[in-house]
Amino acid sequence: MNADIVVAGSGIAASAAMLYLRQSGYSVIQIAPPEKASEKIGETLSCSANRIIKELGIWELFLSRKYLIHDTVFSAWENSSLTRQSRFSAGEGSNWSIDRRDFEDFLRSHANHSYQRRLLNKIQNCSENVDGLSLELDDHTVIQARFVIDCSGRSAVIGRRFSQRHRVDNMICYYNFIKQSDTEIDPTIGIMVEAVAYGWWYSAVLPDNRMIISLYTYPDLVPQHLNRDLKAWLSVVYQAPLTSRRVESAGYLVQEAPVAVDAGMLIQEDISGRHWVAAGDALVSLDPLSSHGMTQALWSGCRAAEACIKSINGDYSAIDQLRQTMSLAIKAYQTELLQKYRSVQRYAEEPFWKRRGSLIFPMEKAPGKAGT
Ligand SMILES: Cc1cc2nc3c(=O)[nH]c(=O)nc-3n(C[C@H](O)[C@H](O)[C@H](O)COP(=O)(O)OP(=O)(O)OC[C@H]3O[C@@H](n4cnc5c(N)ncnc54)[C@H](O)[C@@H]3O)c2cc1C
Repeated sequence: MNADIVVAGSGIAASAAMLYLRQSGYSVIQIAPPEKASEKIGETLSCSANRIIKELGIWELFLSRKYLIHDTVFSAWENSSLTRQSRFSAGEGSNWSIDRRDFEDFLRSHANHSYQRRLLNKIQNCSENVDGLSLELDDHTVIQARFVIDCSGRSAVIGRRFSQRHRVDNMICYYNFIKQSDTEIDPTIGIMVEAVAYGWWYSAVLPDNRMIISLYTYPDLVPQHLNRDLKAWLSVVYQAPLTSRRVESAGYLVQEAPVAVDAGMLIQEDISGRHWVAAGDALVSLDPLSSHGMTQALWSGCRAAEACIKSINGDYSAIDQLRQTMSLAIKAYQTELLQKYRSVQRYAEEPFWKRRGSLIFPMEKAPGKAGT
């Protein structure tokens, strides 16, 4: 089977790339396994995403989803008292609390078009040849593509074959979606971030009135098997004075042990080759503290699709530009992230904050020419 372009994945980056490719005139095959039914974490969508959603031509449809505006952040970071900040940006508009599954389904439904094929498979292997990339799927089908956009998330199925993937850290996230038991109480909308000795907590009310509570820490700093032990989880929750007060005072109940997910940062040394380019988490998986992963996925999905079209036409400048932009963005991000963690002086001697304040990012390769 042949295609001009293959998009690997069906997450946010892949949908953005598919939407961008709608009118390209090229034959496109999207390859991704069926979506898992389990709930996905990540519901704060930064205002920087607004202009990309507009660029993709789905802004009015996005507004009709009626997600919550989340322009207030309550934060106990540098000191233990809670401060309130507005995140509204006059230039970019509001931040959102989305229903993550609904948002991904929404993007996917607008990204699917009859002239684009979708295969419900995993890519298992790939190799380069003069005409592009040859992809082997889990049912042994082989697809020959002139160009592949790797939107396969943390697994980076294409990028990994051609370049090194660096793990920056092994931070972990434990989270629960919790329900309100006392629905008479009107919960305060907004994000709350609380620094504690062993990590930081994030909580937010979602559009369906559930609350997400999540702890970002290292596996060795909390009880073993926390994700299987409700009692241990409750005791950890109650060590976070502001988060536990928020849960209780708004009438929410923690009734289950948390889910644990990898929240470590991963950086792809090379983000593109002669016949491929990475987007979204396949390109770089950010620290969730920035709440920019989805925006980065939307943005890089578009730019990767743009670069892919140009590359097929023999113009590699867009790929070089994407490399340079990402290289600068990662450097700026590193500086900002370290400053943010180092600003928590009250826990400076605690292992979590020592480790976060001394994160070492891999040396980036000097941006080279595509195809080298
Ligand atoms: C704990 C946590 C909290 C977060 N919270 C936020 C938040 O509040 N706000 C925010 O903006 N971001 C957040 N993020 C980041 C955000 O979720 C990601 O950056 C974003 O989902 C990346 O989208 P993606 O499309 O690149 O990857 P994914 O959503 O991971 O999609 C990858 C796709 O590739 C497919 N795939 C995998 N392997 C293969 C293969 N071999 N062949 C074919 N397909 C394959 C998968 O099935 C999937 O469809 C958070 C991340 C974490 C870990």
